[in-house]
Amino acid sequence: MLLRSPLVAGVAALAVAAGGAVALNQGQVTQTVSDQQSAQAFDAVDQPVRGAQPQVSRGVDRQVLAQQAAQQAENRQAALAELTEKSGERATTLARAEQERLKNQWVLPTTGYRLTARFGQSSSLWSTVHTGLDFAAPAGTKIVSVAQGTVTSVGFDGAYGNKTVITLEDGTEVWYCHQSATSVTAGQEVQPGEAIGAVGATGNVTGPHLHLEVRPGGGDPIDPATALADHNVKP
Ligand SMILES: [Zn+2]
Repeated sequence: MLLRSPLVAGVAALAVAAGGAVALNQGQVTQTVSDQQSAQAFDAVDQPVRGAQPQVSRGVDRQVLAQQAAQQAENRQAALAELTEKSGERATTLARAEQERLKNQWVLPTTGYRLTARFGQSSSLWSTVHTGLDFAAPAGTKIVSVAQGTVTSVGFDGAYGNKTVITLEDGTEVWYCHQSATSVTAGQEVQPGEAIGAVGATGNVTGPHLHLEVRPGGGDPIDPATALADHNVKP
């Protein structure tokens, strides 16, 4: 595989003919040539002659390049790890913010309704003024919790019919009345939009509807429309 230079072969032959050992300097490679070693020595000496750079330098360059490549790969790996960690932290922060947002988010209690009685209205139907907001809808229409909270009572309550009370983190009670069916139990945690029962006509009613009542701190009722509006929900 080696292309032997006739010039080098000639010089070596001359040196050997002169007798004894001879040293050939080719770049950084030094070889001692003797009669016995001459064949191998020619092979070793030949190579630097053909190349522009000595073999030793090329070896050092390759080693440096390999080290640099390894270092660069290491740097990339470290940068990637840092990026992954940061995006992980960001995802966690976003998840927490989303949880916080959902926690404070209110939603409408039902769909396909029309409002039939507002808070404060008077009617022969009620002993005082109307204490809630009425969402008239077909019996069986799904009712969902307007906010995150804990179910604090479920049961029949006279004029209110089948009633579910959900207490929010700030102590506000939200009452869902006249239900045909309930689907949660006391002590249960609910999320905004989570199904809790169905529209019905139990209790003191003229037709199926959801009577929604909002009682801050479990005290006197306030206008549910205002409470909903305060949480960016317009009934
Ligand atoms: Zn009502």
